[in-house]
Amino acid sequence: MASKTRNTGKTNKSLKTSKTSKKSKTVKPRRPVIVVRGSKIHGKGVFAARNIAKGERIIEYKGKLITEAEADKRYGDDETNHTFLFLLDNDMVVDAYRNGNSARWINHSCNPNCEPMEEGNRLYIHAIRSIKAGDELSYEYNLVIEDRYTPAIKRLYACRCGARQCHGTFLARR
Ligand SMILES: [Zn+2]
Repeated sequence: MASKTRNTGKTNKSLKTSKTSKKSKTVKPRRPVIVVRGSKIHGKGVFAARNIAKGERIIEYKGKLITEAEADKRYGDDETNHTFLFLLDNDMVVDAYRNGNSARWINHSCNPNCEPMEEGNRLYIHAIRSIKAGDELSYEYNLVIEDRYTPAIKRLYACRCGARQCHGTFLARR
């Protein structure tokens, strides 16, 4: 079973326009922006090490750029829900199992404070609201799998984000 997160392109318009407007807010951080530690949501998580402004680019989601066919071949039978594959709009896949960085530990939330944004073949995690130091970073995975959503699959991809509006899964809605 191949599973990848996909940016659904529901890009926040205000974020997009901020790219072309003044860059004065995108200050180069002197202190580390994030820290990786245990999460209540799942395994490891990524937390803000300082206050992060809405619209700020936090980190690049790094990984080896591969084709979807290669991702399926390499990870197709992987039944774990440790998904470090991010499917880009151009159907290339960022494989964070290889050459990945801390961004791959960012958990899914149904009420996220971040959003992935694509720039060509590169992927960046942006803050969609202001984030306080110590808060866990999250974005909506919208996980795409080819299999039918059986109860077993739903269990495998069960969401424990704790948000009031939790969908109970981090699979993309069909
Ligand atoms: Zn949830």
